[in-house]
Amino acid sequence: MTITNNQDPVLEQLTILKRQAEWTGQILLSNPLTAGAGMKILECAEQVSLSYNSPFSPKPVTFYCKQRQCPICQWRRSQRACAEMHQLFDHRPDLAEGKWIFLTLTARNCETWDLRDTLKKMKDAFQRMTRRHFWQENVLGAIRYTEVSVGQSDPNTAHPHFHCLLLVRPSMFAGNNYMSTKRWAAAWGSALQQQYTPRVQVERLQGTPQEIRAQVVNWVGYSTKARRDTPSAPWLITVTQQLKGRQLVQVSGELGTIAPQFNTEDVADVDCTAIGQQGYQGATFRWDYQSRSYYPV
Ligand SMILES: [Zn+2]
Repeated sequence: MTITNNQDPVLEQLTILKRQAEWTGQILLSNPLTAGAGMKILECAEQVSLSYNSPFSPKPVTFYCKQRQCPICQWRRSQRACAEMHQLFDHRPDLAEGKWIFLTLTARNCETWDLRDTLKKMKDAFQRMTRRHFWQENVLGAIRYTEVSVGQSDPNTAHPHFHCLLLVRPSMFAGNNYMSTKRWAAAWGSALQQQYTPRVQVERLQGTPQEIRAQVVNWVGYSTKARRDTPSAPWLITVTQQLKGRQLVQVSGELGTIAPQFNTEDVADVDCTAIGQQGYQGATFRWDYQSRSYYPV
């Protein structure tokens, strides 16, 4: 029996991701330096079990390769990050009554072989900025996500940028403490110690506590999304090497104290246990490499 992919939205999503994972895995397999990662990505989610008992969305129970460039595992990381943020709001509903900012910090695109050093400089700059007076006075906590996409103006380059969720004091929105986009750009530029003014985007989250919570979770998902661009093989191979061992999520301040688990990027295997305890009910599917689709086992 053939499963048409539109029968189940999760299976449909997994099928798209698995096809992307095959493409990514084959590229990485072609270079001895990334072949190990490529092999693991090709084996990711060969067999999946779908459960409909998850509190957030149906989750596949399967073997995950946990490779950074794996589209399936990045999707899982993103789902997990959103679920953890929901749990944090469940635990601390007062946080949804706080003031939040979604901040994107960029630097000039770099050569792919220079990505590791560029990210190190950006990370140092971020830490420098957190020591500034305006930050110390107004920012209670921050979650910083690193994303690296293909440079728009030159696809041979990398575009590293930070997406940050900041929990701030109300004072940041008033009087001399008010941080406009221009002031954020100046503060980030000063921290980067570069001659140019970097591009930044600032969005103040507004609405009811429920709306604030939904927006925060939405930005967590956006900041951790699986790659949407299609880099060249050399780009992907070099960036995979450059990102190896890098920590791409960092939580600090009050948020670091109450949610240190946000620092853990690995796709946990706890899903299996959690779902099993709830009484697992699901169907199992296996990937068919010929038709590039999932079939019921
Ligand atoms: Zn994977």
